Amino acid sequence: MAGNPQVGVLALQGDVREHAALLEGLGADVVLVRRPEELDAVAGLVIPGGESSVIDKLSRLFGMQEPIRAAITAGMPMYGTCAGLILLADTVLDGIDGQESFGGLDVAVRRNAFGRQTESFETELDVPVLGAPSVHATFIRAPVVERVGAGVEVLASLPDGTVVAVQQGSLLGTSFHPEVDGETRFHERFLGLAESFARTRRSTHV
Ligand code: GLN
Repeated sequence: MAGNPQVGVLALQGDVREHAALLEGLGADVVLVRRPEELDAVAGLVIPGGESSVIDKLSRLFGMQEPIRAAITAGMPMYGTCAGLILLADTVLDGIDGQESFGGLDVAVRRNAFGRQTESFETELDVPVLGAPSVHATFIRAPVVERVGAGVEVLASLPDGTVVAVQQGSLLGTSFHPEVDGETRFHERFLGLAESFARTRRSTHV
């Protein structure tokens, strides 16, 4: 779509294709991001689901950790699903030895929080900021948000109060995978944030 900002999907590991296809379906111009130069070209970044400890290691190996942290500090919108949420969390609980995150979301996230018995499940989730209908949410070895900082908005919780979707400024995170269910509204919200970020960046650069 003309005038749409370029957005990236961090393409080190995980369900990169599903996110790229969904974003393209929404008219976005999608770049698979593996290098700092590719990050410079985009106005927002999706961090996919996968294995957070692997994405962490690869991001350090590829020299992406510092550029991503700098982009977060500069206000670049990011949307993390599942492993991506873990990578955006300031605090990771039950990480492997030496596991690091990019940080940015003032939350503590626990990995694999549902235990072996309920490793994967699907449920209908009420997400008030998205309105009706409810979100069909697929959880796959999913993390949960255990501590929510003062500036963090809770977008969705399970019936027992467990927090599974959050937003803080231009950072969005969900424990579940909207991209596997054709749920587009989180990605639309992310694209909206990326559009305003691109506009501000343009007006401060001219
Ligand atoms: N359990 C994975 C992790 O810790 C996340 C699973 C997922 O992204 N579906 O990174």
